[in-house]
Amino acid sequence: MAVSHSVYWGAERREGDDMSRIPDSFVEELRRRVDIVDVVSEHVQLRRSGRSYVGLCPFHNERTPSFSVSPERQLYHCFGCGAGGTVIRFVMDLEGLDFPEAVAALARRANLPLPFDPESSEAISSGRDRREAMKQAHELAAKLYNYILMNTAAGVQALRYLEGRKISRKTAMDFLLGLAPADGNTLHTFLRRRGFALDLLVDAGLVVQLGERVVDRFRGRLMIPIRDGQGKVVAFGGRILTPDGKPKYLNSPETEIFHKSRLLFNLYAARRAIRETGEVVLMEGNLDVVSAWQAGVENAVASLGTAFTPEQAAKLRRMAGRLILAYDGDAAGETATRRAIDIAQEAGLDVRIAVFPDGQDPDDYIRHAGAAAFQDLLRHRTLTVVQYLIQRLRAGADLSHQAGRTEFLQQALQVLLEWASPIERESELRNLAQEFQVSLEALQEELELVSKRSGGRRRTRETRVPKRAPEVRRRPLESGYVQAGRHLLQLALTDERARRYLMDQGVDELATPEQTALLAFIYAFYETHESGDAAAFLDSLDDPELARLASSLLIEEAPEYDESEMEGYVRTIRLQPLEAAWRQTLIDSGRAQARGDVATAQSLKAQAEQLQQEIQRLKRPLLG
Ligand SMILES: [Zn+2]
Repeated sequence: MAVSHSVYWGAERREGDDMSRIPDSFVEELRRRVDIVDVVSEHVQLRRSGRSYVGLCPFHNERTPSFSVSPERQLYHCFGCGAGGTVIRFVMDLEGLDFPEAVAALARRANLPLPFDPESSEAISSGRDRREAMKQAHELAAKLYNYILMNTAAGVQALRYLEGRKISRKTAMDFLLGLAPADGNTLHTFLRRRGFALDLLVDAGLVVQLGERVVDRFRGRLMIPIRDGQGKVVAFGGRILTPDGKPKYLNSPETEIFHKSRLLFNLYAARRAIRETGEVVLMEGNLDVVSAWQAGVENAVASLGTAFTPEQAAKLRRMAGRLILAYDGDAAGETATRRAIDIAQEAGLDVRIAVFPDGQDPDDYIRHAGAAAFQDLLRHRTLTVVQYLIQRLRAGADLSHQAGRTEFLQQALQVLLEWASPIERESELRNLAQEFQVSLEALQEELELVSKRSGGRRRTRETRVPKRAPEVRRRPLESGYVQAGRHLLQLALTDERARRYLMDQGVDELATPEQTALLAFIYAFYETHESGDAAAFLDSLDDPELARLASSLLIEEAPEYDESEMEGYVRTIRLQPLEAAWRQTLIDSGRAQARGDVATAQSLKAQAEQLQQEIQRLKRPLLG
């Protein structure tokens, strides 16, 4: 399905290479202004480790941190998957942007005015065009819906609904809430007039084609924009405003730009608060999150009309250590809570549960108890998983007679056995002993019995919560030959004297083809960029393999420039192939001898002799 460029409103495409239209000086200035640690820590929870920071890699799934960020060098490298580069590469890979787009995104962040037009990037593929156009259509739709809500007669009823939920106009603007009018044609007409193709709008989930008729997907609904990792609107949640309208909640369908299992509502706006607190609050409904935000809880997100997924859990785990589940207090909410506990623990999150009284949902609770009580509940009155499970048991138990109490205690002990760490088990046993007026010893004995009966079934919590490795995984040991090549490259990347030395010595081959290629790129780059630093060089590398190699070299501490050290490395680099050739020649000579081919054997022996002389010459110190 071809989509013409006309879907872009007004944007004319110019010919030309984008990379060349962004001045180097601008990119350099940008790298100076933006700290890679700031940018990365919006997506990855970083921990200081020596001179660098480490965390869980956002580019591959892992439980022990292999991802390292160097504030000194302003670059990152993952020892697990090899991803690496500067802050620009990080944004490109994480957000799926090309170079000019990533530069533009970072420039916005740093408040640097752009010297070029990112919209006219030639590097954008047609698939990208389509997704961009879909996002633009969503952005425009969100603004239109918001305008209708805030400024038209049609919006009055919806505003009254928001008032009823105590959602202020300011909050409505913060979230760009809107109203999809009931007529069913407003958005379609609006977007078609701006040049968006019909099939694009259908595929984007904004309009629906019913035979000949085309109608807006959302009609007579309060509209809640859903944003992706870059803060772009990619979908909507719509709540019906008429009391008997169905369905109550309608979300955008899964599209090329909206993947429900990966996105979380409000994650874009919440990420800073999540990172700062190390905690994220997970809710069921979009409007719960909106209310929580207004009540001063800015680290809340919601899954999007689907159950909480392992992908979402992994995403949150990179930003926070603890997840607070704030689901509805009804039966459905309880089932969802249990499922979410499993998924969150599997991802290595420490789970707490916020329980709202009398089956309330978070929004009800905020309205009735107030913002301060809500904040207090999240801060001081959340339950551990064990406490939550015991509380649920208690709610279902009949404690008015002895048999009911005994049954409850046995079930509670089973929970302790399966879920609690030794310390938590001890303290909960104490609580139960006090509550039920039994001795601690009796409960401990009973616990032993329950343990035997259940065949020692334990969830062994210790293995469920991954331990943080103290140090980042390192590369496997390499031969001295490969190591020498790495050191020479590290020096060449960071010290001009080293580059000159290598050129003077005529070194153009290193230990592996990748090392040799990288050296050639280094020579070429510094021929035209006298003042360029390692970051500029890294960004100039298009080949991902070479970029990986370069970032792995730069993330390590480089050896100090020392000419006699360099001599040693160069000697190792030159000796190794000679020695390999010498050994092979001797072997070949021996084989020829065995075949009775005396002439060949003699000539190979002479060659080996020559190689040996060369080796000896190299092994003598070059200078006096
Ligand atoms: Zn990785």
